[in-house]
Amino acid sequence: MDYSSKEWFLTERFKDLNRRFFDGKLVMSTLLTDGSINCFGWYTPKYDFLCIRDNLFTGDDKTLRTGDHYQLGRLEFIQNVLIHEMVHSYLYNVKKIPCTPDFHGKDFAAECNRINQRLGWREVIPRPQFRTMMSMGDAFNHLLFCDYWPHESVPSGYYGGAFLGEYR
Ligand SMILES: [Zn+2]
Repeated sequence: MDYSSKEWFLTERFKDLNRRFFDGKLVMSTLLTDGSINCFGWYTPKYDFLCIRDNLFTGDDKTLRTGDHYQLGRLEFIQNVLIHEMVHSYLYNVKKIPCTPDFHGKDFAAECNRINQRLGWREVIPRPQFRTMMSMGDAFNHLLFCDYWPHESVPSGYYGGAFLGEYR
């Protein structure tokens, strides 16, 4: 997949997801790919840049399998990184909720769950404070946090074995 087709893929998926889940209210972001190793994608409200980690398209050693066999699964994964970042844009640009350090708080979780409900995916909760998490003990193991959404919410096998389940 060369760069022009990556750009094409992201642009087409953005338009489709915008229609399906955001009533077409999002203005097209500047879609980028980069060599980040810290996150799958990021969104910056200041410049309206939406960026996807470049090596998700080909797979890498920790997150996604390489090879043609897993390409469809990788594209499903990338589409889900895209929709996550689009929720950030939706909150900022459409719902006019200012960005706070609490990027994955209750407003973000509510939008994730609106989409989860439509797709039959599992519910997520806002990322709690570290101290709250410590006090939750074992209960913590059964909850899904919205900063990883939607990769833990989708049914098992959703990515056709392409996702190795490592977050970094
Ligand atoms: Zn996020």
